[in-house]
Amino acid sequence: MLPLVALVGRPNVGKSTLFNALTRSRDALVHDQPGVTRDRHYGVCRPEGMRHFAVVDTGGIAGEDEGLAGATARQARAAAEEADLVLFIVDGREGASTMDDDILAWLRKTARPTMLVINKTDGIDAQAAINDFARYGIKDVLAVSSAHRQGIDTLLEDVVARL
Ligand code: GDP
Ligand code: MG
Repeated sequence: MLPLVALVGRPNVGKSTLFNALTRSRDALVHDQPGVTRDRHYGVCRPEGMRHFAVVDTGGIAGEDEGLAGATARQARAAAEEADLVLFIVDGREGASTMDDDILAWLRKTARPTMLVINKTDGIDAQAAINDFARYGIKDVLAVSSAHRQGIDTLLEDVVARL
C-alpha cells in the first residue's frame, strides 16, 4: 500500500490547487470519465525517481458538527487521522487566522507528523509569511506557490524524506 499524505487546511488556502499540482498524472486523468465524480479527493503522486504516495484532499475539515458539513468534517478528520503525514496548508497572504488556530489545536491532538505548507507566497515576502506562522511551533515549514508550481519540487523531496 502507498503511504498516505493528507492535505489539511481551512477553505480557500489552495488545498485543491496543491492536490492537482501533486497528482497530475496519466492515471489521474483516466479517472476523469463520465459517471466518475470530478471532485476527486484521493489521488496518487508519482514524483520522478522518488517514492510514490497517495494524497487526500480533506476539504471542509473545519465544518460544523451536524448535517452534511458535519459528515464532511468527520470524513476529513478520519482521513487526516489515518495519514502517514499531514500537510497543514495555510495562506501566506492572509496570515494566521482563528480557523487556522483551531485546525492546529485539532492537529496537535491527532499527533500525526505534520509539515506546515505556507501557500500563495508568489509575489510576496515569503520570510515574512514564515515569521507570521512561527508561533505555531511546527519545525518543518515550507513556503510554496501551488498555482505557480514554486517550491513544489522541494516540497516533494521533503515529503518523501518523511515517508
Ligand atoms: P481550497 O479551498 O483550499 O481547496 O483552495 P483552492 O485550491 O480552491 O484555491 C482557492 C483560491 O486560491 C483559488 O482562487 C486559487 O486559484 C487560489 N490559489 C491557490 N493556490 C494559489 C497560489 O499559490 N497563489 C495564488 N496567488 N493563488 C492561489
Ligand atoms: Mg478545495
